[in-house]
Amino acid sequence: MNSIKSPIFLCLSLTTLLLIALATNFRLSQAANTVSLTYNIDRSDIPPLNDNELTLIINTANASEIEISDATNGPIPFKSGPAADEVTVTTTSSQLTVTLTNPAADDQMGEFRKAGLKDNYRWAYSHGFDDNYFLEQETAVFLDRGIPAGFNLVTRWIIDPASPWEGDFQASELNTLIAAGWAINNHATDHENSCHTIYDRVSRKADVLLAQEDLRTLIAASPKPDLLVLGYTVPCGGTAQFNDYPGIIREIRDGQEDTLLYTDGIFQFPFNVDVSPPYDLDAIIKRDSRIDGSGGSAAVLIAEFDKTSQLANESGNPHWYTTFSHGSHLFGSNVAALETMLDYLINTYGSNGTDEVWIAPTTVVYSYLLVRDKSVVTLVNPPAETTTPSPTSTNIATATPTLISNQTPTPFATATNEPFPLHTSTPIGSNRTPILFLPLNLK
Ligand SMILES: [Zn+2]
Repeated sequence: MNSIKSPIFLCLSLTTLLLIALATNFRLSQAANTVSLTYNIDRSDIPPLNDNELTLIINTANASEIEISDATNGPIPFKSGPAADEVTVTTTSSQLTVTLTNPAADDQMGEFRKAGLKDNYRWAYSHGFDDNYFLEQETAVFLDRGIPAGFNLVTRWIIDPASPWEGDFQASELNTLIAAGWAINNHATDHENSCHTIYDRVSRKADVLLAQEDLRTLIAASPKPDLLVLGYTVPCGGTAQFNDYPGIIREIRDGQEDTLLYTDGIFQFPFNVDVSPPYDLDAIIKRDSRIDGSGGSAAVLIAEFDKTSQLANESGNPHWYTTFSHGSHLFGSNVAALETMLDYLINTYGSNGTDEVWIAPTTVVYSYLLVRDKSVVTLVNPPAETTTPSPTSTNIATATPTLISNQTPTPFATATNEPFPLHTSTPIGSNRTPILFLPLNLK
């Protein structure tokens, strides 16, 4: 009991307390060393879209704590990687703030690059269903697995009083797809008329715009009344007039006549969508239809998944593979093939496997590429310390600002493509060119 009051013990105790106090102070000093990085994301060249995500990879200089917020949502989630001192973050905002606690002295701190694909996925896969006819079982394959696809709609098959034919999709079924995050694309007002060579270019363009108007009417009564129709899939791709459509769609886009941004085509895949050079936003989105038909099977798509994964991982460049299929009226049921290929994809490269593939409609992937290549990201501030370190931690206080002030704010990825004009809502009026409809009503 006496030992409690002994001078030696008191001395030791005081020393211990002093050490604890110093250590605590040191930790507090370190914790107080906070660097804030602000990134402006100029989106003024981006037309209206349904999906506005941009993924950035940012060097954090091995900070002990990281917080990221954007001007729209406040704090937002992020993930570590791909490198040990990097984070990957996806934002829809025009300003991003990254707060780093105790970053190392590292002249790469704050450096950034755009991810090739959303969330830095290695590759993307998109599937679309053409012709809203006898497709209930096929679309259910994707709906049941929670995977959104594209639905390429022939508008008069759903809204014409003479329809529905047996097998036609109903507006209520369309609403189910929209609610599940599916993309809706324009596939003409009447499939066979659009295929027919009696149409000239003026008639074809007028039909595209009339179908857009039809789609807006349908979507206005859907769970997402503001959903934009961004893609056009060409009926009877490969026929003579097919070559007209990319020009027609660009004319609509550049003249701000509607929200259409691209066309789909067939038979060339997968393709490289790396950041550099910028993606050719005028390119036709190439689609593989080999799952259809008597010779169609899941095997050809599965082989293509394996090939795409290998290409993306070996080259380091993100790739994109897109497919489409029809209803059972045309080539027979392909429900089993769709189930086999989709389960393989999910279990091998998707959320149940390596988690390297982003499965999303063409519209959504295209929107990411557009945001990626049309946005200009700038680190606007030399990182500043937000709190003053204590006098005992001068080593920390001198660590970072000099390094960062040497870092020239870097406008990123100057786009070389011609900028898209900003879309202003231009209603399609009644001055539309009259369209000659043929008496054919084949599907
Ligand atoms: Zn079609």
